Amino acid sequence: MTGVHKAGFVNIIGKPNVGKSTLMNRLMGEKISIITSKAQTTRHRILGILNGEDYQIVLSDTPGIIRPAYELQKSMMQHVRISVEDADILLLMIEAGEHFDEEMHGQLLKKAQGKRILIINKIDRFENPDEVEKLTAVWEKTFSWDEIIPVSALQGTNIDQVLPSLLKHLPEHPAYYPKDQLSDKPERFFASEIIREKIFQTYRKEVPYSTEVVITEFKESDDIIRMRAEIYVERNSQKGILIGKAGSALKKVGIEARKDMENFFGKQVHLETFVKVEKDWRSKRQKLTRFGYNFK
Ligand code: GDP
Ligand code: MG
Repeated sequence: MTGVHKAGFVNIIGKPNVGKSTLMNRLMGEKISIITSKAQTTRHRILGILNGEDYQIVLSDTPGIIRPAYELQKSMMQHVRISVEDADILLLMIEAGEHFDEEMHGQLLKKAQGKRILIINKIDRFENPDEVEKLTAVWEKTFSWDEIIPVSALQGTNIDQVLPSLLKHLPEHPAYYPKDQLSDKPERFFASEIIREKIFQTYRKEVPYSTEVVITEFKESDDIIRMRAEIYVERNSQKGILIGKAGSALKKVGIEARKDMENFFGKQVHLETFVKVEKDWRSKRQKLTRFGYNFK
């Protein structure tokens, strides 16, 4: 042991659906952010903390880069900007076939203060390894990258190169968080994210995007956690869809969420769900603040 300790903030940015959460989960080895095939499911900034004996990597997975159209998206973009500026290492993730976009990538990269690593994801889509090399060569010319790593976050290809490269560029610094901590989010947050994931998997079109979940009760004892979740939608019609015929759809969400929660918490879970209508919550700052979104 040299006594040197490294620590820093590693922020993953990129368009929606490029695989940021998949990479983060791979690195964390734990399901800490939700993954669905739908864009924009990650609304909040979620920290994942990777602890080693002589390092601490504070990973953050941000909402995808998008142009703000309504208030919720403005809050999401705020997270992206902060992520870029305060990163010791910025990981820009793109997917196979994506082109450099000056307005989107260039502007954000210029604001970065720390190291910049490009992750080219989904290389499993290429049949020929030459294609990966060609794409890497094209991206090499777009910017002065500190490193470029082609990976498949889904299949795990080259993921073993990511951690050593992060450690190489990480500054010398004491730990920012207690070494036994995995995330900055409380347990209720994970509970609500698990429910949100099931909602995204169960309903189509605008319903999942119009939904917010608040855990209003979380009582933990030695062998069981009792939870009460309130699910907010924007309109009465959405409430009907969410509940389903004779409550069937909501029941399915509850059963599946409970299974995942029991895995995550390692305990039996009792979950009660209630659906409420909060008209146009996405467009109203006051309500968004109550749900925990930050504007600043
Ligand atoms: P995010 O929006 O950037 O956080 O993206 P997600 O991690 O949620 O992934 C979006 C979709 O891309 C999901 O369906 C993933 O399974 C898929 N995906 C992620 N990584 C890979 C990969 O390496 N290869 C392929 N083919 N799909 C991937
Ligand atoms: Mg995500």
